[in-house]
Amino acid sequence: MSQLRAAAAAGRGLRRSGGRAAPPAGQSRKGASSRGAPAPAPPPAQHLFSDPAEIEALRGNLLAWYDKCKRDLPWRTLAAAEPDADRRAYAVWVSEIMLQQTQVATVIDYYNRWMQKWPTLQALAQASLEVSVAGTGCSPCPRGSSSNTAPCLLEQEVNELWAGLGYYSRGKRLQEAARKVVSELAGRMPRTAEDLQKLLPGVGRYTAGAIASISYGQATGVVDGNVIRVLCRLRCIGADSSSPAVIDRLWDMANALVDRSRPGDFNQALMELGATVCVPKAPLCGECPVKQHCRARSRKLFGKPAPVPDVEDCGKCVGGCPLCPPAAEPWDSSLGVTNFPRKAAKKQPRAVRTATCVLERRGCHGAPEYLIVQRPSSGLLAGLWEFPSLTLAQDLQEEKQREALADHLQTWTGRPVAARSLRLIGEVVHIFSHIHQTYVVYSLPLDGDMTLDPALSPSRWVTEEEFHASAVSTAMKKVL
Ligand code: SF4
Repeated sequence: MSQLRAAAAAGRGLRRSGGRAAPPAGQSRKGASSRGAPAPAPPPAQHLFSDPAEIEALRGNLLAWYDKCKRDLPWRTLAAAEPDADRRAYAVWVSEIMLQQTQVATVIDYYNRWMQKWPTLQALAQASLEVSVAGTGCSPCPRGSSSNTAPCLLEQEVNELWAGLGYYSRGKRLQEAARKVVSELAGRMPRTAEDLQKLLPGVGRYTAGAIASISYGQATGVVDGNVIRVLCRLRCIGADSSSPAVIDRLWDMANALVDRSRPGDFNQALMELGATVCVPKAPLCGECPVKQHCRARSRKLFGKPAPVPDVEDCGKCVGGCPLCPPAAEPWDSSLGVTNFPRKAAKKQPRAVRTATCVLERRGCHGAPEYLIVQRPSSGLLAGLWEFPSLTLAQDLQEEKQREALADHLQTWTGRPVAARSLRLIGEVVHIFSHIHQTYVVYSLPLDGDMTLDPALSPSRWVTEEEFHASAVSTAMKKVL
């Protein structure tokens, strides 16, 4: 039995009485490794939690700190007060999906609006089904503007509510999964992390673990960016923290550490610690509730990690250890605990240039209106609305890009557009996680009306107010 398994077994032996029922983790070691290769040898003891007494002390210290210092967040309040397991799981699920790649402070308003509009998964699924029953094309444009194709109302509502949160496909997948729970699972959320991950689209291992531990009290760990940072520091893990081998080890560790009687609180406490104390650049080690268990801190203070009982194991860390920093990048004393975690160098974002045109006409009351068109339903910014845009070849001269854009605009105007009538306004840069996007912005004021071709993808005229209420990306708001 590996030391980790021994620790996990020891942890089970230390279960406290009381609290919600804690079924077993339900995630086999086989499931944790995506490669199916023979299990590697256990790492040296300095990278593990192998002492049951230490595990118990760490759990107690972390939970006591969490009880005292946790932030008041709407999803926590909802989950704590909700007696119905399905409603509780839905409330946690929405928060976890919104929190992926997005800061807590940003999510709060979006979460409250979402839960007000669709307080249960039945409400979300029902809205979705009503739109499906109405058929494609749904109804005349809800905004009363001239439109060639009415957008799917729910998709539009989801996108509008999500606009500004980024990673828009998350909202769509949440909607699809809610429909699946209602239509295929009789409205009952899967009750284990394993089933949540298997049955719900868009629910990965982390989200499944968070829902199951927080909503159902399943003793299963979670590993997100905050947990990676805390665990790597606690156990001096300096190998590439995005590598599958290290991630597998961290999942093992999270599953071994999770408190058996308060797994949801324990997981949230570990993440809260990473978000508020063990932060990336200037961790507040003096205030840390688990500092006495932190080997990175010992190393900073004493020049080496706290001694571990297994001297032989320690020796293996001198060269060739799969969890130590690579030999070429040893401990840097000026960095202290922020030596951990380490990641392989990020790929440079791809540079993309896009010409975009703000077509403007006078509306019936003389106020300006702008033409927006809907993006395809998959890929970057799927289903969102934008000004007519065209991706440009690299190093295209201004004159050529203007001509290319004029050609493209003809699709929408139904008549030739003179390249010289396009006015170059300037450039807007927007950074997506993997794309460095430059929008070259043109404007084109139109005399008279323009008939939109219903055979084209959805497009509509909007006032400035309607534009801001529409499902448009932050980048397009910058363009306007
Ligand atoms: Fe993080 Fe410092 Fe606490 Fe260690 S002591 S876990 S580095 S905050």
